[in-house]
Amino acid sequence: MKATHIAIAALSVFIIASFFLIPKGQPAQKKAVLSDFDARILSSGRLNQSLLKAQHIHADFAVFANGKQVDFNKSAYYGKSAFLHMEPDDDGSTGKKLHMHSTNVPLWVFFESIGMEFGRQCLVAETKDCGNVMLFVNGTQNNGYGDYVFGNGDRILITANPKDIDGEKAIVTSYSEKQ
Ligand SMILES: [Zn+2]
Repeated sequence: MKATHIAIAALSVFIIASFFLIPKGQPAQKKAVLSDFDARILSSGRLNQSLLKAQHIHADFAVFANGKQVDFNKSAYYGKSAFLHMEPDDDGSTGKKLHMHSTNVPLWVFFESIGMEFGRQCLVAETKDCGNVMLFVNGTQNNGYGDYVFGNGDRILITANPKDIDGEKAIVTSYSEKQ
């Protein structure tokens, strides 16, 4: 009987001690939740997951079609890809600033995540405009189009059939470089 009591006492001590001694595990890492769109482009191999690494950078961004600026300040456009997206910003930059929450994410990811397309021939945004489609990065024309991967603080202008390129360049904001 005594041995049983000792065993029960020992077991009790062990259980109580375990409660304090066994590590409870690391707090869950805050991970970006992939959207259905993200899952599709990863599984199709269009975006190479092995090239993605965590970082968080921004670029200012404006898109024009036939001289009219595309309005991205719409909640339907927010956060459609965890990798590259617009989101509501409290500094007034909503709809004018792209957030890249990873490395090596090309511009097409943003466009396609919201049902648009940015190609060499055509820009499909609120309208489909083909012909003279151009990308400017920090004022300089760039041939990357949808494959362009921006750097932190880039000022990006995408324009189709522009009426006034210099005027459009001047409208691109510079929120990102202030961060
Ligand atoms: Zn951000």
